[in-house]
Amino acid sequence: MFGRMLGAALALGLAHTATAADLRPDQVKFREVYKELVETNTSLSVGSCTEAAAKMGARLKAAGFADSDITYFSVPEHPKDGGVVAILKGTSKTAKPMLLLGHLDVVEAKRADWTRDPFTLIEENGYFYGRGTSDMKVIDATWVDMLVRFKAEKFQPKRTIKLALTCGEETINAFNGADWLAKNKRELIDAEFALNEGGGGRADKDGNLQTQGVQVGEKVVQQFRMETVNAGGHSSVPIRDNAIYQLAQGLLKVRDYEFPLTMNDTTRAFFAKAGAGRTDPTGKAMVAIAKDPTDRAAEAELNKDRGFHSMLRTTCVATLLDGGHAENALPQRAGANINCRMFPGSSMEATKAALEAAIGDPGVKLTPLQPIRAKPTPPPLDAKIIGPMEKVAAKYFPGVPLVPTMSTGASDAIYLIPVGIPTYGVPGFWSGPEGSGAHGLNEHMAVKSVYTGRDYLTDLVKVLANG
Ligand SMILES: [Zn+2]
Repeated sequence: MFGRMLGAALALGLAHTATAADLRPDQVKFREVYKELVETNTSLSVGSCTEAAAKMGARLKAAGFADSDITYFSVPEHPKDGGVVAILKGTSKTAKPMLLLGHLDVVEAKRADWTRDPFTLIEENGYFYGRGTSDMKVIDATWVDMLVRFKAEKFQPKRTIKLALTCGEETINAFNGADWLAKNKRELIDAEFALNEGGGGRADKDGNLQTQGVQVGEKVVQQFRMETVNAGGHSSVPIRDNAIYQLAQGLLKVRDYEFPLTMNDTTRAFFAKAGAGRTDPTGKAMVAIAKDPTDRAAEAELNKDRGFHSMLRTTCVATLLDGGHAENALPQRAGANINCRMFPGSSMEATKAALEAAIGDPGVKLTPLQPIRAKPTPPPLDAKIIGPMEKVAAKYFPGVPLVPTMSTGASDAIYLIPVGIPTYGVPGFWSGPEGSGAHGLNEHMAVKSVYTGRDYLTDLVKVLANG
């Protein structure tokens, strides 16, 4: 035990020395921002985004940003969920601004469950560990460090570059800064397009980068309360008509209902590019479905992969269950939560109608739960954004294809897209097949991914800001 600990301590010490010596001065500065963000707890329970926003704002001010170009915001009901918007003015009178978006909040992390302290940035064996190292303080730190550096270099972009660091992305019912800015400070964040989380690369188990991804569109969450009611009665004299059985039958219909296959420009391009060059049955099916969405054999092959299955349609699944009021009474009420992930462009109404038709029992009531979002349209595969992403990627990730992806999860893009700001999840950082531990245990990022991704994004923003 002691020997192992000593060995680990030595390895750590050596690794640390070697790494520090290898860093460029600008990387040392970036690492300080990254460390400060990870070590500022921004979880909903005990953390404070307001504090993190103040620290980032202070860095920008120290770099030369005027007070008038830094706007802090919060609401009295959520004093710890504040954020900050900063503006680096462009030289062009005609080029519209671009927006860099980042959420500061992180998912809860319990020290007892983690191998290392989640709120200390620990560099070990080629990885950074800590809550938010991936989701998404690595991007937040990159945005802040980038603006600090642009100021120091006296870089004058044609476009105005705006930065919005917000809170409340990871939890519903908290104060969501992106939502609030879109509704109350639309002018402040006005931009031709926004760069956000949601993209990124995938490496194989040996750390070799296989693809880079730009997220163009995402599915949208819609919840339904599914409920049955019954006159009930004494459980000693049961009848077949029963709220729980009726609900259960409806639930099985939801399980068995498959929403029809749907594709858009993003998913077509994803399957065509990501499948090209693959010789396995899945790869062939990816290329085939991109060519012909009615290819049922290809669809059946892709449906075996739960990620692809979800990318190809709206999905709805039961996630919570309740029913009855006493162990010796016939249930008067039974209910379930149905969690739907709607394909971009699908409406709440159409999704509800499809579920009701599948259930086929008017006694099973479906009620949409708030929030009901505007019918989302995915941002376009815009060449003046995707082009530079590919061009700069060729320098940092030669030979690695850049594929457009549609996330099956959701990000703050859902607030910006409806107010007319197309939002893209940036390529750059990557993780291996095991993922990054985002939302889960021992969240991490490969050190190489962090420094390379940061360089990539810094170059990319320069190109986009001068385009
Ligand atoms: Zn995130």
